Amino acid sequence: MAPHDVKEVDVVVVSGGPAGSTLASLVAMQGHRVFLLEKEAFPRYQIGESLLPATIHGVCRLIGVSDDLARAGFTVKRGGTLRWGANPRPWTFLFSVSPKMAGPTSFAYQVERMKFDQILLDRARQLGVAVRERCPVSDVVVDSDDRVRGVHYTVPGGGEHQVHARYVVDASGNGSRIYKNVGGSRDYSDFFRSLALFGYFEGGKRLPAPNSGNILSAAFDSGWFWYIPLSESLTSVGAVVQRELASKIQGDPETALRRLIGECPMVSDLLAGAERVTTGEYGKLRVRKDYSYHQSRFWRPGMVLVGDAACFVDPVFSSGVHLATYSALLAARSINSVLAGRVDEKTAFDEFEKRYRREYGVFYEFLMSFYDMHVSENSYFWAAKKVTNNTNPELQAFVDLVGGVSSGEAGLTGHDAVSDRFKGRAREFASAIDELAGGEEGNMVSLFKSSVVREAMLEGAHVQTRALLGKAAAAETPLFDNGLVPSPDGLLWTFPDSFRG
Ligand SMILES: Cc1cc2nc3c(=O)[nH]c(=O)nc-3n(C[C@H](O)[C@H](O)[C@H](O)COP(=O)(O)OP(=O)(O)OC[C@H]3O[C@@H](n4cnc5c(N)ncnc54)[C@H](O)[C@@H]3O)c2cc1C
Repeated sequence: MAPHDVKEVDVVVVSGGPAGSTLASLVAMQGHRVFLLEKEAFPRYQIGESLLPATIHGVCRLIGVSDDLARAGFTVKRGGTLRWGANPRPWTFLFSVSPKMAGPTSFAYQVERMKFDQILLDRARQLGVAVRERCPVSDVVVDSDDRVRGVHYTVPGGGEHQVHARYVVDASGNGSRIYKNVGGSRDYSDFFRSLALFGYFEGGKRLPAPNSGNILSAAFDSGWFWYIPLSESLTSVGAVVQRELASKIQGDPETALRRLIGECPMVSDLLAGAERVTTGEYGKLRVRKDYSYHQSRFWRPGMVLVGDAACFVDPVFSSGVHLATYSALLAARSINSVLAGRVDEKTAFDEFEKRYRREYGVFYEFLMSFYDMHVSENSYFWAAKKVTNNTNPELQAFVDLVGGVSSGEAGLTGHDAVSDRFKGRAREFASAIDELAGGEEGNMVSLFKSSVVREAMLEGAHVQTRALLGKAAAAETPLFDNGLVPSPDGLLWTFPDSFRG
C-alpha cells in the first residue's frame, strides 16, 4: 500500500526510534491500527549505545524481542566501572547486587544502535504496524475542539499528505518538529549543559574479565569519557566537557579528541595501539550538545510526547533509551486503556505523566549529587537511596536506580519471567475459548467470550504468580494517591484492588 493510502487509524506514531517502535508495538498488541512515520531510511545512525537491564528484561521482553537481541550478539554488560569522585582508583558495580535483577536478568547490552533500532522497528512491523520510512512529519492536525486529530507528512519524492488518528504520539527525539503542540514550554537545566565529542576505535583494550563488557566512565579535569565495548574490537569513545570548556572541542575535531584523550590517562592507556575508524557511519567524529531539558506538559487531548521529545537528562548513567522505552510503555498503557473504554483520558494520561516525571526526576536529582567529585562512591550510593526512598542498603539502592528498576514496577524486572508462564497459560485458555466460539453459538460461549471472563483469567494468573513469588510479585500498589496500577499483562492500566473494596 502506498504511504498516502492510509487516511484514518487509531494511533499515529511519529518516529521509528526506540520510543516510537516500542509504543507502536505495545498498542498494536492490543489489536489497534497503528501507522508509524519515520523521517529516515533504516538502518540509521544514533548515539546511545549502553542500555539498562530494565529495557532488556522489561520492555524488550514484553514486546517479544528477547530472542532477536540474544541472536544479534551484542556485548553483554554486567555493570559499570567508574573512575569517578574522590577515589583515585576505578570502582565497579554489578547489576547482580540487586535481587530485582538477580540471576539470568543481571545484565544489559551494549548495542550498535543501527542494529538495535532496526530490531525494534522490524518487530513493530511483525505485529501489524504500518511502517513508512522516509516520511517526515511536518505538523499536526487540530480540530475545532482543540484536539489533535492527526498529522501532515511528506512522502518520498515529495507530496504532502494527512492521516487522521485518535492519538498522535510524538517520539521524534530531541529534534522533534511538533513537540510544541502539546503546549507549555521546554525548560532547560542550568546544571547539565555539556557538549560531547565522540567517535569509534578498532583494537581498544578491554577491562579485565568479568568486567570486560562494562561501560567505563572516566572523569578527568575537563569532564569525563565514556568507553563502550560494542564488539570484541569496536569501541565507542566520547568526551563530555562542560559548557565553559566548549573551546576544547572547537576547531579540528580529530586534534580536539586526541588532546582530550591525552588528558585522561585511563582512556589513553586503553586506546594505546587502537586505530580510529575513519570510514562508513562510524568514521565520522560527531559533536552533540547533551543539554538536559524537560517539557512542562507531556500530553494534551489527542497527543502525547515520549522519549527525548519529552525530556532528556545527562548521559552519564545511560538512562536515555530506558526513559524512551519506559515512557513508551506508560503511554501505550494509557492509549490502550482509553481506546478500550476502561479509563477516562485524563486519569490515564495523568498516570503516564506522573510516573514518567518520577523516573526522570530520580535520575535528574541523583545526577546532581553525582557531579560532586570530592566525595567517595559511598556518598553516591547514599544519595541514590535518598532520592529513591529505597529502604534497601545503599549499594542496592544505587544499583536499582542505575539499572532502571527503582520505580518498583514488576514489569521491568525478571520476576515477570515467572509470571509470564502463568499468563501464557491464561492466554492459551482464552484462545481456546475463541476457537470454540468460532464454531458454536450459545450462552456459555458468549459468556466465556466476554471480556469479564478474560480479565478474571488474567487476574487468576497473577494470583498464582503472587502465591509463588510472595512479596516479590505482590499486586502492584499505586505509586500515587488514587493512582492506577498496570494490568497483569502490563499492557493497560487498571484500578487497584482497593478501589473495588
Ligand atoms: C552524547 C550522548 C550520549 C548518549 N549515550 C547514551 C547511552 O549510552 N545510553 C542511552 O540509553 N542513551 C544515551 N543517550 C541518549 C539517547 O541517545 C536518547 O535518549 C535515545 O536515543 C532517545 O530515543 P528516542 O526514541 O526518544 O529518540 P531517537 O533515538 O532520537 O529517535 C527519534 C527518531 O525520530 C525520527 N524523526 C525525527 N524527526 C522526525 C519527523 N519530523 N518525522 C518522522 N520521524 C522523525 C528520527 O529520524 C529518529 O529515527 C545519549 C545521548 C547523548 C546526547
